[in-house]
Amino acid sequence: MILERWLMPDEVFPDFSSVTPELLRERGIRFVFSDIDNTLATYDDPTPPPDTARWLRSMEKAGIRVVFVSNNGRERVESFAGPAGCPAYWKARKPLVGILKRAAREAGASAEESLLLGDQLLTDAAAGKRCGMTVFIVPPIRDKTTLFWRIKRRIERPYMEKFARSRGTGRG
Ligand SMILES: [Mg+2]
Repeated sequence: MILERWLMPDEVFPDFSSVTPELLRERGIRFVFSDIDNTLATYDDPTPPPDTARWLRSMEKAGIRVVFVSNNGRERVESFAGPAGCPAYWKARKPLVGILKRAAREAGASAEESLLLGDQLLTDAAAGKRCGMTVFIVPPIRDKTTLFWRIKRRIERPYMEKFARSRGTGRG
C-alpha cells in the first residue's frame, strides 16, 4: 500500500538527542534535513533551546551538516536558524518534495547519505520517504491539542503502532 510506504519511518526515537552523531556515522548519514517545530523545539522557542544548541554543535563537530526544512514561515525559521548557523528552508510544504529536493541539491547531499528528522508522519516522513532518505521520527515535543491535530494524530496512530509492533518494542 502506497500510504504505508510513505508513512513508515525507519526508526522512532524518544527525542532528537537520542539521534547521535555516532549513530548517524554508523549508518553513513552525513546530512540531516530536520524539521524544527515540535522536533527540535516547541513553537514557543524562538531560538534553539540549550539542549538543541548542544545537539547542533555535536553534529557540527562530527562533520554532519544539519539543514532546517520547515513548513513554517520565513520569520520563524530565520529567527531559529540564524543563531544555529544552519541553512534553512521555510514554507517547505512537506509532504511535497520540491523544497526538500532543492535543499538536498544545494547541500550536495545524495539520498543515501541523508536523514529526514521530524515529528510528523503525514508531512515529515512522507516527504523524506518520497525523496528516498532515511527517516527518523520523534514524538512531538509538545503537541497541539486542537481538533485538527487530534484528528491528524488519530490517522497516524495505526502506522506508529504498526512500526512499534514490527520492532517488537515500545508503544502499541
Ligand atoms: Mg514538526
